[in-house]
Amino acid sequence: MAFEGLADRLQHTIQKIKGKGKVTEQDVKEMTREVRLALLEADVNFKVVKDFIKRVKERAVDQEVMESLTPGQQVIKVVKEELTDLMGGDQSKIAVADRPPTVIMMVGLQGAGKTTTTGKLANLLRKKYNKQPMLVAADVYRPAAINQLETLGKQLDMPVFSLGTEANPVDIANQAIEQAKNEHHDYVIIDTAGRLHVDSDLMDELQQIKSNVTPDEIFLVVDAMTGQDAVNVADSFNEQLDLTGVVLTKLDGDTRGGAALSIKAVTDKPIKFAGMGEKLDELEAFHPERMASRILGMGDVLSLIEKAQDNVDEKRAKELEEKMRSASFTFDDFLEQMDQVKSMGPLEDLIGMIPGANKMKGLKNVQFDDKQLSHVEAIIQSMTKAERQDPSIMNASRKKRIAQGAGRSVSEVNRLLKQFNEMKKMMKQMSGMQKGKKGKKGKGFNFPFM
Ligand code: GDP
Ligand code: MG
Repeated sequence: MAFEGLADRLQHTIQKIKGKGKVTEQDVKEMTREVRLALLEADVNFKVVKDFIKRVKERAVDQEVMESLTPGQQVIKVVKEELTDLMGGDQSKIAVADRPPTVIMMVGLQGAGKTTTTGKLANLLRKKYNKQPMLVAADVYRPAAINQLETLGKQLDMPVFSLGTEANPVDIANQAIEQAKNEHHDYVIIDTAGRLHVDSDLMDELQQIKSNVTPDEIFLVVDAMTGQDAVNVADSFNEQLDLTGVVLTKLDGDTRGGAALSIKAVTDKPIKFAGMGEKLDELEAFHPERMASRILGMGDVLSLIEKAQDNVDEKRAKELEEKMRSASFTFDDFLEQMDQVKSMGPLEDLIGMIPGANKMKGLKNVQFDDKQLSHVEAIIQSMTKAERQDPSIMNASRKKRIAQGAGRSVSEVNRLLKQFNEMKKMMKQMSGMQKGKKGKKGKGFNFPFM
């Protein structure tokens, strides 16, 4: 996961100061030295680090902090606030034009994730805000780029405007907006061409598009994995085009996080979204405060709740819960529940959002292996309808057949059956307990296999 190294080091550092009943200037000095090293190691721009440390120091040795009842915690609060500020303070919204369509122009280097993000953003706008976007293929230099966007359009069942590779990107953009008006699309997202490096031809072309269509947003898409380079790229694009925001992609990789922590400070433009994977639903609004919390090990409950709300069908979750209570929960239900949890993203990331989870003994070494889940899934899928409904009919030959079908061992099948039975028993007990508590209803969803 992104930020892992930085998070480890910062958490270790703040842990030392956290419980202190008295904090001296020397303590602050030591802490900021370690924070400084951690940030540099995470590939944060050195000027950015210098300013950051200066601000933290100034605020941390303030009388009010030092003489408060909980100086350690106050110091950490300062670090968190400054970290939040560094990434952009309040989360910024996406523009809405007075007269539709709102035009968004996506720019960036080749391979940064422009085309993918164009699709993701359109998906998000429709899903979350009920908008009807149109995608525009203005990368005319590679036929494959147009095909790629058209494929995304098909997957999303959304229109893609294209004039092939012969037309001029400015004409494409103009005509697309005309058509969007006629067809009442409220957003137009223009996927532009990229180059391997920043060059003047590219900038000229982008500037021409900009001056012709006056976009409401110009989003620079940058690959978080490229570290310091991403910051330099952001700086030059911003100088030429006066960006309105940045989308950081590939934050699902093991980037050290330096780009996320430097871009706002260097360009003064907010990171608006973060790409968390290749799939079309893996784009998230970037919340600096939540990210700071996550980095400092304070968890990110809000994002966890939002993820659950976005991905879990509440009605089905309630039905499943009822089934658990009445012990009529079958393997089919189990599969469905697994799907709901899986749609929330990799388990490891979810764990990272639980406050203090990283400190839980043992949890750190447990492999939250999504493969394990697919093994379980394969086993259940190899069961017949009858077996899924009533596992008690399972005998040796059935188990053997299931194991073979799933490509797993019989002992794995046995283990799953045992776990399932134990889970059902537990559910029964728990629902018994809950019935005792009047008026209290359980939560909408559970994680039986965690
Ligand atoms: P473009 O040249 O800027 O249009 O870049 P593309 O949209 O074609 O993306 C380049 C590659 O990066 C593709 O393989 C994408 O699937 C991948 N990609 C884009 N965004 C993300 C992301 O957030 N996470 C991961 N893991 N891969 C991404
Ligand atoms: Mg592209």
